[in-house]
Amino acid sequence: MTLVSRPDAPWYSKLHIQIFIAMIVGALLGLTIGLPAARALGWLGTIFVRALNMVIVPLVFTSLTNGVASIGTGRELGRIGLKTLVYYMTTSLLAIIVGLFLVNIIRPGVGADISGAAAEQLPDIAEPSGPGDFALRLLLDFVPRNVVSDMAAGEMLGIIGFSIMLGVAIAHSPERIRDRGRTAFETAFQVMMVLTSFVIRLAPIGVLGLVTVAAARSGATTFVAMGKYAITITIGLLTHAFLTLPLVLIVLGRINPRIHYKNMAEPLITAFSTSSSSATLPVTLRTMEEKVGVSNRITSFVIPMGATVNMDGTALYECVGAIFICQVLGYPLDFATQVTIVITALAASIGAAGIPSAGLVMIFIILRAIGLTGPEPMVIVGTMLAIDRPLDMMRTAVNVLSDSCGAAIIARTEGEKNVDVEPAPGAEPEPGVERADVAAS
Ligand code: ASP
Repeated sequence: MTLVSRPDAPWYSKLHIQIFIAMIVGALLGLTIGLPAARALGWLGTIFVRALNMVIVPLVFTSLTNGVASIGTGRELGRIGLKTLVYYMTTSLLAIIVGLFLVNIIRPGVGADISGAAAEQLPDIAEPSGPGDFALRLLLDFVPRNVVSDMAAGEMLGIIGFSIMLGVAIAHSPERIRDRGRTAFETAFQVMMVLTSFVIRLAPIGVLGLVTVAAARSGATTFVAMGKYAITITIGLLTHAFLTLPLVLIVLGRINPRIHYKNMAEPLITAFSTSSSSATLPVTLRTMEEKVGVSNRITSFVIPMGATVNMDGTALYECVGAIFICQVLGYPLDFATQVTIVITALAASIGAAGIPSAGLVMIFIILRAIGLTGPEPMVIVGTMLAIDRPLDMMRTAVNVLSDSCGAAIIARTEGEKNVDVEPAPGAEPEPGVERADVAAS
């Protein structure tokens, strides 16, 4: 079972078209009928997200172990790791700079009256610890104390660390064991890919449920009160998605952005409707291999890493959100403060979990770093939370997009030629199918 439909299939049987229609219908139902529609259809979204979460851990574990076991040399692994790190840091910083520029030009918080806007309390939002211990914590997280409990808790960095070490161990085992280990993990991985494609087939009904709920709860009135703030973030995210990342794709990967974005339709809509990079991970992994044409040895490492630490949309959002709060409160924004915001926004985006509204919580890290504490920021963050869902949907899609661009570019620089190639007209079957078959053999 593949995600790539045959070129002669009728338009309505194409998965990305079905998902897109589901999104439009869900938005219309949510906005017109509201909560009754959300109550009636919400469970479809819940099942879909649960099924996605169900496959994440075994998929990442088998995919990454299989990928590393087949890479073999430590040098190659190190090179791919370094490229991944440099790409992730650079694009997140570019996103932050776009946000910084816009928030200073538009100044959405200056004179903003949010007294009429609905605020949500922040009961379940635990304040995270300061930015200082981030680097060390990240490093430690790669070495799980107990791999079973990390898997049970879905701790992605621990799973990534263990899978890499296991893959390296397989690659360094005596020949007979190595071959068996590789075969075992490759088999398990291919079976997980098939299971994942079953789950992805649920996407149209899942997206219908998720978008209906999101639209019904969008808080339209508060959205208007926070209009300038929402517009600043939206322009920033659109700039990053349609200007910065395409340029990066062209310059670094010699990749046609139009083809890449078209290939990525399903993960992008899934990210948009789930507001969760983690839940989208299985769809991204599957699409990168089947449609974009990146090999498993690159996707299996770059994509789970990206879903955990690379969040360009969130990085931009952190920067704009923190400066917005400063502007509302009239807090002085000198050069040093803005530099601190840029650095901590990067750290906060790395630390944010790939779940809904995680980015909003991380704003407290930035506020603490610039010495802005007390009850007033809490109230503003509560108001930001009231309209967070639509913004979260957009930034999650940008987060996932950046991961996919990174994997495609790294694959290109590693000499992979099948990345985002335009299918020859009438080609039968499409290249994605061939690639998947080759990968499976
Ligand atoms: N929801 C985002 C994600 O999963 C994180 C955020 O809240 O910014 O990527």
